[in-house]
Amino acid sequence: MSNKHRKIAKKKQKQAQEKQMRRQRHFVVFSTALVVVLIVAIASIVLQYQSANNAVQKSPKTSQQEQNKSTPAPKKPATIDYSGQPSIGSTNAPVKIAEFGDYKCMYCKQFEETIFPSLMKDYIKTGKVQFFFFNFPIIPGKGSKMAANAGEAIYRQDPVAFWTFHQALYKNQGQETDNWVTPELLTNIAKQTVPSLDVKKFQASIKDNTYMSDVMSDYNMGVRLGIQQTPTLFVNGKSVNPLNYSAIETKISTALLKNGSTNG
Ligand code: CA
Repeated sequence: MSNKHRKIAKKKQKQAQEKQMRRQRHFVVFSTALVVVLIVAIASIVLQYQSANNAVQKSPKTSQQEQNKSTPAPKKPATIDYSGQPSIGSTNAPVKIAEFGDYKCMYCKQFEETIFPSLMKDYIKTGKVQFFFFNFPIIPGKGSKMAANAGEAIYRQDPVAFWTFHQALYKNQGQETDNWVTPELLTNIAKQTVPSLDVKKFQASIKDNTYMSDVMSDYNMGVRLGIQQTPTLFVNGKSVNPLNYSAIETKISTALLKNGSTNG
């Protein structure tokens, strides 16, 4: 082979080698790109699957929450449940008055001594009103709740004598800030006002807070009714200023008229 031919052959060999290297580079670039594309595709499929899965798991709650947000359930107005509460007056009376009171509250004593006697004479004894008492112990300290529990205990022993005990408890009311409600005082008042009193049972119910769940059930009903002070008075469910007798009479007249029209 001549020198010239050798040079040409060498050049061709070099060109072939360069071509081979370019092909290899292209292959590496191409396959790397392919791997990246595949990883991205797989990752996006996995993410889509996960989010779809989450949406399925969350959807019932989310849609319910959204529904609640857009259409809030109509709030049922709180009503007075008169069952199991001490009452005085005819059970057929067209008007029901509910007092929510606290034996330590001075305005409850004022209602008891200045308003209730007129209500008794004009409306309860005449069969127009049935009057109910609910506990709403609002004054801080244990006295209000102890007195309320004692009232519930007397009501269970003698529902009629309850009213004499209730009245006597207000008569013996001390200062709001004093701890005048004691088991001894409650027992003495009970002995004087409840002829058929089971003293031991009564004392045990004070010691054990036997009727505290009933007291709190009254209290919670009052909270649902929006009560913020004592006494609070409702005439057939409508609240009225408890210390304004003419306002109470107006509410009773309205309730009687309404009752008359609904009865034909
Ligand atoms: Ca009660």
